[in-house]
Amino acid sequence: MTFKEFDFKQNLQKSIDEAGFKEPSPIQQDAIPVILQGKDIVGQAHTGTGKTAAFGLPILNMMKCNKEVEAVVIVPTRELAMQVSDELYKFGKNLNINTATVYGGQSYSRQLKHIENASILIATPGRFLDLLRDKKISINPSFVVLDEADEMLDMGFLDDIKEIFTFLPEKRQTLLFSATMPNAIKQLAKSILNEPEFITITQSEITNSKITQTFYVVDEYERDDALIRLYDFKNPEKSIIFCRTKKEVDRLSTFLVSQGFSAKGLHGDMEQRQREEAINAFKKGKLEILIATDVAARGLDVNDVTHVFNYHLPFDSESYVHRIGRTGRAGKEGVAVSIVTPHEFRMIQKIQKTTGGKLEAKTIPTIKLVK
Ligand code: ADP
Ligand code: MG
Repeated sequence: MTFKEFDFKQNLQKSIDEAGFKEPSPIQQDAIPVILQGKDIVGQAHTGTGKTAAFGLPILNMMKCNKEVEAVVIVPTRELAMQVSDELYKFGKNLNINTATVYGGQSYSRQLKHIENASILIATPGRFLDLLRDKKISINPSFVVLDEADEMLDMGFLDDIKEIFTFLPEKRQTLLFSATMPNAIKQLAKSILNEPEFITITQSEITNSKITQTFYVVDEYERDDALIRLYDFKNPEKSIIFCRTKKEVDRLSTFLVSQGFSAKGLHGDMEQRQREEAINAFKKGKLEILIATDVAARGLDVNDVTHVFNYHLPFDSESYVHRIGRTGRAGKEGVAVSIVTPHEFRMIQKIQKTTGGKLEAKTIPTIKLVK
């Protein structure tokens, strides 16, 4: 199947061609025709499967381009807001469709100015709600998207989201996308969507992907040493290391930098400017290692991540799936490595269940460190 079969407007198809998209991904194949029919949907597919274009392309195709805000996309973090904005701008530019982002930490006046000539608004829940409550913006969008909905709920945005919808017109098409589908999401979908169609791409990204997954068993005090050995052994070009806490991110990045690695941390307590700097450097290949918490890294669209390291396993297997989904994207090969202590074996078993038993135990390479 090709994108031509959707019969998009010529200038939209032109952008799709320019972006080098040839075949729609499974979630795009399933979701786009339903959205084009004007139906509400709940779309579930793993990270990196092209959900942005799955809602972005049909919405762009249906927009009237009358220089008013016609579509709102609500996303969990500012990084995602910028990422989604870039992706939608890329597809909308030949239709003369502008995007604007709204997120905390940036001046109201600047954002409000951008909104004036934007047709698509991409917003994080907190700031968006502030603007609506203070009557700083009044909009009447035909399309509302909740992107990475599970993430927003994890971050405690449920009440904000519910309140946001009290400011939105009842006559609208609402689309909800999520990598996972916990009960809270189904409940939310029930309360804000109108007879939605559920589209789930069950084909597991993990079991079918080219991600090689291994774990190494160490004692608690050996984690740092194991990590360094693994880096020396595997020599990753571009990698993300996941930690459980912000504190751990800070400590580990200081340690790795002291060992001569090109590494930076990424977590929610950092200033926005610092976070953007780290992400941009990583994207451009100027930074080799990003050390992140789950929340900071989810949804991040960085291409060519060769390795994902779990310095600590996450607390649940769904986060594990999210984490390792940062590598092995777009059909490329990827490597996921977890450092595990014996008391984490139960978590390993859970993960193996979720991922279809693809996780393999290995022993730490005994390469001597030259320090
Ligand atoms: P998700 O939201 O599901 O995590 P994204 O929408 O961020 O995924 O897409 C992941 C990456 O794949 C992006 O770089 C995007 O440009 C690319 N992509 C999406 N759909 C296609 C496609 N049909 N062909 C080629 N690349 C695609
Ligand atoms: Mg996404």
